This record gives sequence, structure tokens and C-alpha cells, in this order.
Amino acid sequence: MTYATLSGIGIHTGQPCSATLSALPPGSGILFETPEGLIPARAENVVETLRCTVLGCGAARLSTVEHLLSACAGRGIRDLKVSVSGPELPILDGSAAGWAATLPQGALALRELPQPIIVTGRGGAFIACYPAEMLTVTCAIAFEHPLVGTQLARFAPLALSAGEAYLEQIAPARTFGFIEEVQKLLDAGLAKGGSLENAVIVHPDRYEPALRFDNELARHKLLDLLGDLLLAGFLPKADIIAMKPSHGLNCQLASLLSRIDFE
Ligand SMILES: [Zn+2]
Repeated sequence: MTYATLSGIGIHTGQPCSATLSALPPGSGILFETPEGLIPARAENVVETLRCTVLGCGAARLSTVEHLLSACAGRGIRDLKVSVSGPELPILDGSAAGWAATLPQGALALRELPQPIIVTGRGGAFIACYPAEMLTVTCAIAFEHPLVGTQLARFAPLALSAGEAYLEQIAPARTFGFIEEVQKLLDAGLAKGGSLENAVIVHPDRYEPALRFDNELARHKLLDLLGDLLLAGFLPKADIIAMKPSHGLNCQLASLLSRIDFE
């Protein structure tokens, strides 16, 4: 069964692209079907984490998988075929709302966490996971910036209403860039598809366009974290505290989770 085909442009290549989402039998996992071959959405297939999460398998490459995977995490989708037209997923409006709205509601892919896990990165970044009854995620960002400063976002889904909580509170949060960095990326021939239709630009004194939430930036980092974590194949029943998370750190954690021996 096909859920939908979503089309748009890739934020990094600026090229038109599309993705068709269809159901797979239970136990299949999430599978990307690219013109160059299949890529299972698993931590072992992460090949780059610089500005987005890039998966690869053999000659196949696919960039910017994190927002669709976040929608799968938030909506409880464990099995999905994603047939793509090119090397990048469409950025849509820079959030996960478009993906989340096309997916049906499933049960969150939660598993017990046998022991606490922490991963650390540069500049005081860390993600700590402490075993708990349910999943809760608290995400903090900190920028030396007059407008942004520190922000917190929290996702504490109750099992029954997790999908709605995700749809309302997390999925609409858009990706963002600081104006100085955006200019550098454009000068370097990167972020070719970036525009005010798919990203929030942070100026010294204002956001452009206007924010959807006061803490939209922190919510987006939480959105990214959920997507990258699903590369473990499940979400841990844990209290997760993420301080300044990045795709690199998120994927490092997903890799550790994916290697837990549950026997
Ligand atoms: Zn993102």
C-alpha cells in the first residue's frame, strides 16, 4: 500500500526530487530504495553527518534522511519503503510536518535500555540516556547570540497520545541557519535549495520568517535527534537529556544503541 508521494527540492543540491512512501510487512524496518540500490535505515549505514545525516550502502547515497525518520519515530512507524528519485530527500518546509501528516499512526518503537549511556562531543555537548519507564527527551541548545542564547524543548509522550504530541509540538519545527553561515554556505556552492520557504534565518535582531514556537530552534534539534536515534532500529525507554546535540553525536548514540545485546 502506498501512503503518498512527496515532491520538492533538496536543500543541499537545490535539485527537484521526490519520495514515495509505502507500507512494508512487520519486521522489515525502514528501507530507502534509490536509483543506485537499497539502503536500510540503520546506524551502520551512516556515512556523513556534517550538515545533515547521509546514509550509504554500496554505490547508493541518500542525504537529509533525518526529518522523514523523525516523522517515523514520532508516528511509531517501524516498517516503511521510501522510493526516492535522487540522492536527497525533499526538504519540504524544513520541518517534519509534511512527512508526519502522510504517515498513519503506529505504536512507538520502544525498547528497555539495559544500562545508562552517555555520549560526549565538543564544547560541552552530550546526550545522556537514563533507563526509565517511558521515553522523555529534553533538548537544550546554547549559542552566543543576542537573540537565541539558551533554549529548552521537551518531548514527553504518553504512550496513547504520542503521535498527537509529536504532530503538534515537534513535527512543525523548522530547520534554521544563522545569516553569517548561510552566506558562507551559499558562497561555497552549498545549501543551494535553501530559502525562506524551508528554513528559518536567524539575524542578529530577528527571525525570518517569524517563528512557529518561541523555542522552535530547540524543538527542531529535538526533531533531528528523534530521527537520527531511529537509526538504532528502536527508541530507548529512557530519560534523555541532550545538550547541544548534533547529527554526529546523535548518530554516535544510535550506533551504540544498535549494538546493545538484548539477550
Ligand atoms: Zn533538521
